[in-house]
Amino acid sequence: MDLFEHEARDLFARHGVPVPPGEVTTTAAGAHAAAVDIGGPVVVKAQVKTGGRGKAGGVKLAATPAEARAAAEAILGMDIKGHTVHKVLVTAASKIADEYYFSFLLDRANRTWLAMASAEGGMDIEEVAATRPEALVRQPIRDMDLGRAADIAVAAGLPAEAADVIVKLWDVFVAEDCTLVEVNPLVRTESGEIIALDGKVTLDGNASFRHANRPFGAAAADPLERAAHDKGLNYVKLTGDVGVIGNGAGLVMSTLDVVAQAGGPGPANFLDIGGGASAQVMADGLEIVLGDPGVKSVFVNVFGGITACDAVADGILRALGMLGDRATKPLVVRLDGNNVKRGRQILVEAGHPLVTMVETMDDAARTAARLAAQGA
Ligand code: ADP
Ligand code: MG
Repeated sequence: MDLFEHEARDLFARHGVPVPPGEVTTTAAGAHAAAVDIGGPVVVKAQVKTGGRGKAGGVKLAATPAEARAAAEAILGMDIKGHTVHKVLVTAASKIADEYYFSFLLDRANRTWLAMASAEGGMDIEEVAATRPEALVRQPIRDMDLGRAADIAVAAGLPAEAADVIVKLWDVFVAEDCTLVEVNPLVRTESGEIIALDGKVTLDGNASFRHANRPFGAAAADPLERAAHDKGLNYVKLTGDVGVIGNGAGLVMSTLDVVAQAGGPGPANFLDIGGGASAQVMADGLEIVLGDPGVKSVFVNVFGGITACDAVADGILRALGMLGDRATKPLVVRLDGNNVKRGRQILVEAGHPLVTMVETMDDAARTAARLAAQGA
């Protein structure tokens, strides 16, 4: 999960990485007030989860609170690479002497962690890497101390005084379970301080259980994704009109493909209910999918394995019973695998008005797309 710059800053500050004072706000009046609090010139910065905000006009220097208000007015609502700006960070403007690049990241290909540093910070680091690779130092890292940090700093042309901040960034990387901690620019100010002026952090979602109290990310996630996560379901919201529920990530991915192939707006979501497929899990899944107003029909695609098709069929009927009036959209069900005959028989005999049984995936996808178009 990627963090906003202001969230990355909070993590940095928690581990002693120097950052300029700053406040987050969603309004121009708030930016004015923040500039008054901070005092002196400030920088107003769009908070969006993408880089290159400076080039896009999303980072503006403001000498006075009135200028900070005007800058926030210009930046709020701006579109930066498809991300709408809903909040800005107002931060004290630093007097920059030098801008550097520094990052720690997970290097999956080489099964290690990597430190990357360059004296050519502030700009597009991908461009530096592509055009002048010698200007970007890369070193595999297993552990960190001041001596090691100073070696990296000096090798990259950063001042040796940056070592202390590098060690603290490593603390962030390890203690917060990050797969990326990137500071661009890390600056030396005119008075010789080393400060992180930008921060990009990616957290390892697999470790989030170790950080239950961390306030990050939840507010940004889609409400249905959050509800699904709370129920232990793997759900990703998409933009089409056919809700998709299946068991097993591979089957659900294939289901997305056939639904996309069937034409129309395509799949509305990815939802893997996993191996169990109990009535409760099916009800939870249906409730999430039907909670999306864009969903006009639902394609339930289940391959009976350890949980055989008859149990799945029972689960679907019980789930519809549990949902009652909340189940409103047509369901296209395709069952195959263990005990498939009995499973289909159960659904046919029940004759539930919302359920259509279809034997093959392709037919089921076409039927679901057609029903969605009728319901739209
Ligand atoms: P992005 O990388 O998305 O363009 P940055 O936070 O790196 O955004 O800001 C772009 C540039 O703006 C920086 O390279 C730096 O020169 C300048 N800048 C950012 N924050 C400050 C600040 N607090 N004080 C002075 N200059 C800043
Ligand atoms: Mg930057």
